[in-house]
Amino acid sequence: MIQDILIWPNKVLDNPATPVVEIDDEIQALADDLIDTCELIGGVGLAAPQIGVPLQVFVIDIGRATGTGEKYETFINPVQVQARGAVKMSEGCLSLPGIRAKVDRYEEFGIEYTTLEGTRENISSDGVLGQALQHEMDHVNGKVLVEKMSRIKRPGVRQKMKILKRRMKAAGLTYHDVIRMPEE
Ligand code: ZN
Repeated sequence: MIQDILIWPNKVLDNPATPVVEIDDEIQALADDLIDTCELIGGVGLAAPQIGVPLQVFVIDIGRATGTGEKYETFINPVQVQARGAVKMSEGCLSLPGIRAKVDRYEEFGIEYTTLEGTRENISSDGVLGQALQHEMDHVNGKVLVEKMSRIKRPGVRQKMKILKRRMKAAGLTYHDVIRMPEE
């Protein structure tokens, strides 16, 4: 099911998510919701806190990230196991509509995670997939892209998002209405 996406600042986005204890029907449904919502927007990845669920779960369209078609993977209780090199990458976030920033990332990044089937796996990558893994890991750790931006830019982003949210509330618009609007 398509879910609304939280726009930063929001408490759920700013706090570390809790680990999943058991992969039950609720977690399966959460993964489906994340994939449905990410797919609708055409994003590379989406983390559970972004749809208001404070659990350590995220999805990435591996196919889109590596340019090999569409293939979603669900990552549960991820732990960083590798980080090497440094690159500056241009990045956006679905919880920060209209904002892009050049941020510091590791060139190559790897995590260990639990799959929906309950097995523990490893994934490591550079490029867009490595960047997406770092971005979604930040979300489950309660960190948004804003924290990687320069300190002088942060208040401006906060102000922009507050104005956007106020306008949405006044006009009765949802996140999905807003991202379909042409940029001003
Ligand atoms: Zn994000």
